Amino acid sequence: MENGVAVTVIEVGPRDGLQNLSFFVETENKAALIRKLAGSGIREIQIGSFVNPRAVPQFRDMEDLVSSLGDLRSVTMTCLVPNAAGARAALRAGMRKLVYFFSVSESHNLSNVRQGREESLKGLRSVLAETAGTADAEVTVALATVFGCPFEGYLPKDEVLGWVERVASLGVGEITLCDTVGWGNPRQVEEICSSCRELFPETVFAVHFHDTRGLGLANALKAFEVGIRRFDAALGGLGGCPFAPGASGNIATEDLVFMFDGMGVSTGIRLEALLDVTSYLREIVPGVVVTSALARAGLPRPRGPQARETRASR
Ligand code: ZN
Repeated sequence: MENGVAVTVIEVGPRDGLQNLSFFVETENKAALIRKLAGSGIREIQIGSFVNPRAVPQFRDMEDLVSSLGDLRSVTMTCLVPNAAGARAALRAGMRKLVYFFSVSESHNLSNVRQGREESLKGLRSVLAETAGTADAEVTVALATVFGCPFEGYLPKDEVLGWVERVASLGVGEITLCDTVGWGNPRQVEEICSSCRELFPETVFAVHFHDTRGLGLANALKAFEVGIRRFDAALGGLGGCPFAPGASGNIATEDLVFMFDGMGVSTGIRLEALLDVTSYLREIVPGVVVTSALARAGLPRPRGPQARETRASR
């Protein structure tokens, strides 16, 4: 529990959603989006990546973006860092929660970050060394392809757990288990998340699901049932998968919050305000495909004279 909030929904749209766009979103629009997300009650936002701007031009303005948000104290802002140089740049810009990432499958890691997993683990050590001198800095790790790899298929659970163990043993306190390409299913989510929580009770686990094949929310619900309390999601369901062109992206923040809200599980996020942010997203990302079912259908509102409270569980 964080300040009476039963689950924490981490908005990753500004990073996972915008990174795939073919055009640049102006810094002031990104900043306004992040402020509006904060205004709806979201308390943790992944705002971008400190990567080579030639590789991902969308994030060439990270320093400016961070400095323009310097007064936004209500939100924990996180960013991806691929290496020690990225961590140094992020710290210099004022970021304090850095997310290092690699894949538990060798071939996806080679394809995504052009190095093997052992090299990535070395990279993690150098990121930890880079941040060690900054007292309030924190490094978390996002493990990609935990629930399936587009090259190798489903990895053996022991192999996944082996990488979780190696990361946790370096003193990383939080690990995000990612279904990068949307292959996961609830039974597998149950097995992997339960094992992680049993074997590594000191570690905080978060989950990151893509709705590529329609199981995103089912997976999130199963993760919640086995004790996971931190969930990545992207406004509008942004974040398509390069291995499944045209498919849905991340689970939509609106739909995840709607599910928890209806179940009486507090997120601290106000749905009406969140849907206003979706409208703003449509303004600043022309042609954006919003896959959120809630954004399309709207909040359920009884219309007849016998209208009752719509949240049955309260
Ligand atoms: Zn993702």
